[in-house]
Formats: sequence, C-alpha cells, structure tokens
Amino acid sequence: MLLYHIINASKKFDFMKITFMPKFSFFFLFLFVVSFHASSQTLQVNQDRLAALIKDLSSYGKNKEGGSDRVAYSSHDVDARKFVIDKMKAVGLEVSVDYAGNIIGKKAGTQPSLKPIAFGSHIDEVPNGGDFDGPVGSMSAIEIIQTLRESETTTKHPLEVIIFTNEEGGVIGSRALAGQLSKEALEMKSSSGLTQAEGIKAVGGDPERIFDVKKDKGDYAAFLELHIEQGGNLEREQIQIGVVEGIVAIEWWQFTFKGFANHAGTTPMKMRKDPMIPAARFIIAVNETILSYEGAQVGTVGKIEAFPGAGNVIPGEVTLNLELRDLSSEKIWKIYDELETKANEFAEASGTELHIVHQEVASTPALADPVIQKAIERSATELGFSTMYLPSGAGHDSQEMARIAPIGMIFIPSKNGISHAPKEFSSSTDIANGANVLLQTILQLDEELP
Ligand SMILES: [Zn+2]
Repeated sequence: MLLYHIINASKKFDFMKITFMPKFSFFFLFLFVVSFHASSQTLQVNQDRLAALIKDLSSYGKNKEGGSDRVAYSSHDVDARKFVIDKMKAVGLEVSVDYAGNIIGKKAGTQPSLKPIAFGSHIDEVPNGGDFDGPVGSMSAIEIIQTLRESETTTKHPLEVIIFTNEEGGVIGSRALAGQLSKEALEMKSSSGLTQAEGIKAVGGDPERIFDVKKDKGDYAAFLELHIEQGGNLEREQIQIGVVEGIVAIEWWQFTFKGFANHAGTTPMKMRKDPMIPAARFIIAVNETILSYEGAQVGTVGKIEAFPGAGNVIPGEVTLNLELRDLSSEKIWKIYDELETKANEFAEASGTELHIVHQEVASTPALADPVIQKAIERSATELGFSTMYLPSGAGHDSQEMARIAPIGMIFIPSKNGISHAPKEFSSSTDIANGANVLLQTILQLDEELP
C-alpha cells in the first residue's frame, strides 16, 4: 500500500522568501527543487511543535520533584483540560465535553455517513507521575489534526479526538463510553479527594446522565491510541515502534497456608507446622513456573503477611497474593493449575492446610484488531522504523474501547522502562515517530475500513 504523499507546504514557503540570487544559485535551487519533488515527502507531524505542546501541558501540576501532580479532577487537571480544549479549538476541531467529562474534538470527513475513526488518550496522571503517560497520545492527536489541516487533507471518515476522563483512577471516561460504569463506581473516592461523581461534575460532565454516553458496537470505525510502552522491551531491543497485540487479562488469587502458631524457641524444628515454609517454596515456584513457558506472560507475588507477625513466634498463618497476566486467559489458567498443584504439594509436605480465594480483576484480554495491527506495522515499516509485536501489561482506555470498537495501540520506547514516576521519559524523536505512525495508520485505515 502506498503511503500518503504530499509536498511539505512550509518548505515551499521558504523558497518564496528568496528574493535575489546570482544565476548559478538558481541552478542549484532548480536541482534541489527537482530532487525534493522526486522524494515527494510523506505527510509528517511537526516534531518541535509536538514537543512544545507536551512541555506546555507538563507545566500544569508540576511539583518540586519534577513530577506531575495532575490527578484527575484536581485544579491542575481542570486547568490542563482548559489548555487542551483551547488547543483543540485552535486546530479547527469542533470541541465538546460529554456527560462523562470526556473531551471530544470532531473533524468532519468527506463522507459523513461513515463512522468516525477515533484516537486519543488521557492527560490525567498518577500522584507524582510523569509527563508522558497519556500526554504523548493526547498531544499527538492534536498535532495530527493540525498537520492534516495545514496540508488541506480531509479524510473520508470523520475523525474524532478523545481525551478520556480519569484514566489513572479507573479508566472512568472510557468505561462510560463502553457502558461498563456502575452507580457504585461513581460513589468511590478518587485520588483528588472527590468522589468520581463529584469529580465528573468538576470537569464539566453530568453524573446524573453519564449512562447516556454509552456507545454501541459499530459506532466507531476504529479506535487508536499512541502510548509510551511503560516497560523496557522496546529500549532493550532497540526497536522504534511497538505494535500492541492487546491488553492482557489479569487474575488475582489469595493463597493462605494455615499451620500452628507456637514458641519460636521451644518448639523443635521437626514438630513445627510452619506455614512460612510452603509459602516460601510457593513464591519460588511462581517465578520458575512462569519462566518455564514460552511467551510474555508475567506473574507476581507482591504481598505477603504472616500472622501473628512477631519475630519470636512461628506463624500460624501466612497469606500471599498471586497475580498472573497474559494475552491468553487459557494460558493464565494453565499456569495457575500447575501452581495450585505445587501449592498443595508444599502444604502437604509441611503439614499445613491451604485455602485459595480467586478474585476477578480483568478476566478477558482486550485484543487489538488484526487489520489495525497490520496497518500499524505497515505504516511503521514504510516510514523506515523497526517494529516488534508485544502485549500491553498495563491497562489503558483502549481496553474499554475494545468492547465497542476495533482497536489498535502504538507503543514508543520508555527510557529505562520507567513510568508512573517523575523519571518517566520518551525522546521527542520517538514521540514524533509514534505520531507519524499513528497519522499514517489513520490514513491507511481511512482507505481500508468501511
Ligand atoms: Zn496512560
């Protein structure tokens, strides 16, 4: 498939500024113009303008540590949203805020009957977060609209930029669009101190009518999100663009080994029913079992508690939490079954009892659409970028949008794999690369999608 070609308008304008020149210079200018036309530039975003946009946005909520305190619904978030709305209007988008507080910017297509191609991300951050998780996709969306406008390009499909409400505190805006929000969820406290309902009001939404924003399957032709990887895979492999295969499913379990609490000094080793022993063996087994499978699955024991929890008491009970993540639920449960068998063996060998509680977190993976994955890969390859396919281990608005639309996600490298922290960083070049891949993907899908 051919890339979208266009002559860079700003470069053409530079020639017009040249008013006087010796004759031989005209010859070189002629050669340059000919070669310029021959290379026929691909439509590209303005890297410096995009970097400036992200920098300007980062000033809202910047703290002393250099991090960002722009949690959803805070005054910093409210101010940043005003900034973003102004920028969206300035690039010619028709901007509105829906009942969930999502900021929506529309650009008409030449065929109004077609469903919109939507793209965007979020601008809220975790407390003491970074400047790139969310803003990269959000500001790139605005820059793309500006680039299309300057080149007087109109797509067939209407385009829709979406800046979602409170991604970091429970993907609230996208859940509302996907019809996944409950009344109870609206009463929960957010990091800002406000409940979700109060917060949504503070950003111009209406919690009373929020369920009306629900979209149906087929309301969008596609949804695309550019995001930082938040992991170290792309950087380690020195790959410029990640084609996201989907957002992983997550399962949680609580394992409790019950033994018998007793004096740590007077109880002989052979007479103990110490639940710490099977718990310790289990933690090692989790790591070894997960590593024994091919693929990108991950698993973690992130919490362990011993009761009564004293240095001179053999614990009576040890509780630990197991989390497994993968793009395949089937694989998660296969690994889990293996771990459950091992945990039972360890319990038996130590004379302890095992109790397991399963907690549902995100039981279904949100898979990226295969057609969109291919379009992203092709766009990146045609722009000369290296690519790799990878899952997203972190949650995103795209996982909710996947319920109502074919989705695709583009990852760019995160320096040292750090995110949700002040040291979160992606270079301006990597960001512009990602934005250009997003732009080309939009243009390719505009041709391909019904
Ligand atoms: Zn994010």
